[in-house]
Amino acid sequence: MSEQPHQFPGSPQRFLFEGRYRKLVRGLPQTIFFCPDCKGRGCDHCEGFGRLVRDSVQDLIARVAMPRFKARRNKFHGAGREDIDVLMLGRGRPFVFEMTKVKREDIDLAELAEAINERSEGRIEVTDLKPCDRKRVAEIKQAICEKEYLARVEFCGSDIDFAAIDKKLDAIKEGGRWVLAQGTPIRVMHRRGKDIVRERWLELLEHQADGDARVLRLRSQHGTYIKEAISSDDGRTKDSFAELLDVDCVCAQLDVLGVFLD
Ligand SMILES: [Zn+2]
Repeated sequence: MSEQPHQFPGSPQRFLFEGRYRKLVRGLPQTIFFCPDCKGRGCDHCEGFGRLVRDSVQDLIARVAMPRFKARRNKFHGAGREDIDVLMLGRGRPFVFEMTKVKREDIDLAELAEAINERSEGRIEVTDLKPCDRKRVAEIKQAICEKEYLARVEFCGSDIDFAAIDKKLDAIKEGGRWVLAQGTPIRVMHRRGKDIVRERWLELLEHQADGDARVLRLRSQHGTYIKEAISSDDGRTKDSFAELLDVDCVCAQLDVLGVFLD
């Protein structure tokens, strides 16, 4: 019997780089979003594409990175993720891009970032690309980060007392952080399966009128559901802006301004 250590001839050559991404358009998911009906095989529902949304942040990076590294497969690991309709602004969100079956490693990552940004101009921007090891995947995925948001709040119904709303917003801002009790949002219930209540803090930093809407700059603890913190989600989040302002309202638009890692 041979005593030689076993070698896998085609064993995956791995290369990982980390960086930050900004997402400048709505409707772009962070990762490949397979069709829920066929799980990517292609069916009538997705017209054979296997996905309902053609691109993702992951795809836009992969499209440029994979040919340079001559890589076969990739995975995208984000420090959390924003909803598909939410922009990621500010300095961007940390991520790790992992490739396997890589045939070239001597790739200039600054040039790669430029090429990605040029090819996806107006959609995504990546910065601070640098090689990293596999430990970073867990670090980035498990990172607990405070976040800053810009939320556009629209009010439902007629006869809205905007002067009273602005006064109440001043008082909320003065009051500083408060703790919300948030039941699992109705919109994620199908994924989470169970309803738990968790407590998270939120802070109103600034508010501004934009016609009949109000634009709020918010700071939040890791894992706060912002849309629900505004609408109350049928009373499942307390105290929501809807309750504090005593008016039905919704988060019509949301942008992440900052993801604060360590
Ligand atoms: Zn399908």
